[in-house]
Amino acid sequence: MNIDSINNGIVIDHITAGSGMKLYELLHLGDLDCSVALIKNVHSNRMGKKDIIKIDEDIPVDLDVIGYVDPDATVNVIKDGKLVEKKSIAMPEKLVNVIKCKNPRCITTTEQELDHVFKLVDRENKVYRCIYCEAVL
Ligand SMILES: [Zn+2]
Repeated sequence: MNIDSINNGIVIDHITAGSGMKLYELLHLGDLDCSVALIKNVHSNRMGKKDIIKIDEDIPVDLDVIGYVDPDATVNVIKDGKLVEKKSIAMPEKLVNVIKCKNPRCITTTEQELDHVFKLVDRENKVYRCIYCEAVL
């Protein structure tokens, strides 16, 4: 795969430098069969440094995960070498099965079949709260 250009796939751009790996993990990109490139600390005029993720296949990416990790990231869909769509990213009101509650007494640690649900309680400071035990992320 050519790092500079992909013909068909997804480019997640303008990721805050250092957040690329977290995004890579939460999107489970390591499980994909296609080529995936995580490029760290790319020079950016606007941001100084940024991370970029390129996925060499048009897969459905979970925009909630991207919005949670980095609401300022941009998601570009590439077809036949051309940019065909820019997806808008927003911090999700609710996170379902993206992150797990760290409170050892939380019901989600014993009730395995429960969804891990967090609600956004403070958009400015990016604070999410577990809906079961109220633990703050
Ligand atoms: Zn909890």
